[in-house]
Amino acid sequence: MTDQIICHLKNSDHILITTHTNPDGDAIGSLIAMGLSLDKLNKKTTLYNESSIPAVYRFLPSVDRIVKNINPINTYDTAIILDCGDLQRIGTLSSIVQQIPVIINIDHHITNTRFGDLHLIDTSSCAATEIVYRLIKKMAIPINKAIATSIYTGILTDTGSFRFSNTNKAAFKICDEMVAIGVDPYKVAQHVYGTYSLSRIKLLNLALDSLEISYNGKLSMMTLTQKMLDETGTHPEDIDGLINYARIEDVKVAVLIQENSNGKVAPEDRKLFHVSLRSDGTVDVAAIAYFFGGGGHFSAAGFSIESTLSDLKHRIIQLSEIL
Ligand code: AMP
Ligand code: MN
Ligand code: MN
Repeated sequence: MTDQIICHLKNSDHILITTHTNPDGDAIGSLIAMGLSLDKLNKKTTLYNESSIPAVYRFLPSVDRIVKNINPINTYDTAIILDCGDLQRIGTLSSIVQQIPVIINIDHHITNTRFGDLHLIDTSSCAATEIVYRLIKKMAIPINKAIATSIYTGILTDTGSFRFSNTNKAAFKICDEMVAIGVDPYKVAQHVYGTYSLSRIKLLNLALDSLEISYNGKLSMMTLTQKMLDETGTHPEDIDGLINYARIEDVKVAVLIQENSNGKVAPEDRKLFHVSLRSDGTVDVAAIAYFFGGGGHFSAAGFSIESTLSDLKHRIIQLSEIL
């Protein structure tokens, strides 16, 4: 399939490259690495993401090329969808993007639906950036410092700094090569982990305060409401990573409920929530997320749901009974 993808890319003219909403380091890293590499093939590209880029990733090279609008859909002959288990993950444009003649699906989620025409799906890859790295290598495109920084950041963040269960040999091997190309690990770490705003630290305080543990101690749950974001002045895109504070000794599944900020309020106090799930490696949270209409990986998954907060919390706490 890789050869077919390369052959197709070489014959493409105008390529839309996109990733999931509320992008993380892997989504943004793979988007930029892919875009900069296709520049070398003199391809016209649009780098698109529906959401704002979290402040901690705005240091990435060419990050300003990521736009929130696309050209008329009929001007694209190819779309590359990165780090998305299903096409809907790209957000409101998914049905329009579907009209692009050839869709290339590059991903590492176990719940990937195999959407699109050409697939590069490897669930054993630690990050979408690992797959993009291999594709760039196969295309014999030289990896410069800008591309290397994007790849390094994607792998660093998706593996939780080489701590999560998806950390594999390739993570170290590729990052070693990226450092040899000129990436400064300290500088990247400073941007990604060392530049948290005061508002985020205040939000962390509220998040920790919201912590609830199921009676059997196997499930932890934190809740972030829109009011908390407003009170602390935190942008919704800047809460990535807070769920890791709910990973507590003996807890098998950590949950973070985040009220969505799109202002849509359904009848009877129902609101839109994003729920992030992390497991200690003994529970398949992708299966739980899938049950609720989402997806992800064995140890990190998520879903979006419209509900009242109390109903949602009740349903989640109940999950502890099957753990
Ligand atoms: P998050 O909960 O946003 O931290 O995401 C954890 C993992 O689950 C990531 O790999 C996401 O791509 C995936 N994920 C999150 N939300 C969804 C969703 N609504 N549908 C499918 N996959 C999701
Ligand atoms: Mn991602
Ligand atoms: Mn990823």
